[in-house]
Amino acid sequence: MALLKTVASILILSVTALAGSPDFVFMRSSLAKKAGFTVHQFNTQLLSAQKRDLEQYEPQEHACPMDLKVKAHNIFDHLLEASSLKHNYAMLNITPALVVLCDEGNKIGLGDGAGTRHDVTEVAEGLLNYLSTEENIAAVLAHEIAHSTRFHFDRLELRLDLGNVEQEADTVSLSILRNAGYSPEIALTALKKIEPALGPASQQIVPRIVSLQKQLQHL
Ligand SMILES: [Zn+2]
Repeated sequence: MALLKTVASILILSVTALAGSPDFVFMRSSLAKKAGFTVHQFNTQLLSAQKRDLEQYEPQEHACPMDLKVKAHNIFDHLLEASSLKHNYAMLNITPALVVLCDEGNKIGLGDGAGTRHDVTEVAEGLLNYLSTEENIAAVLAHEIAHSTRFHFDRLELRLDLGNVEQEADTVSLSILRNAGYSPEIALTALKKIEPALGPASQQIVPRIVSLQKQLQHL
């Protein structure tokens, strides 16, 4: 029921034209291509279709250092337990998944390092290496899980008004991190770590840093 309530609340949002704003963690372009990026009706049939997609999905993880992959999956699983996502998808017999993209190694720039499509989160080896600490990785993965809990990808497909999905995901990530036993402050630490590596694209990050600073002051 929680999922249906969430869906209902999302559909109440006003529909406006989507202003395409690139985001460093929302979606990898290659992922969007793999997804076919078609418009679906937002209902349980869609979620069933996603499960089929996942079963057919063959990520190239063979070149990934095992310790890095295990580390990322452990953090992801821990964060899932602390979010509503696992429970909501479990009702639909869907298991949220993390794919660590190691075949492209460090060639992936930070500007294209992580993304979420429905119940599948992708993160690049290059980004994991750059983030380096468990806390930084947890912060980025919590942000991605937050996109899933708010159905941002699906809303994008439906051309719903997304508002500021990045700041919304940052806000949701704070509760996920806290529920998982991390300090919410690490969301800010990770963004500050990423910002200088983005070059001109760091302009997108600055408002998120400011917003997080304000929110953390009031926690
Ligand atoms: Zn994002």
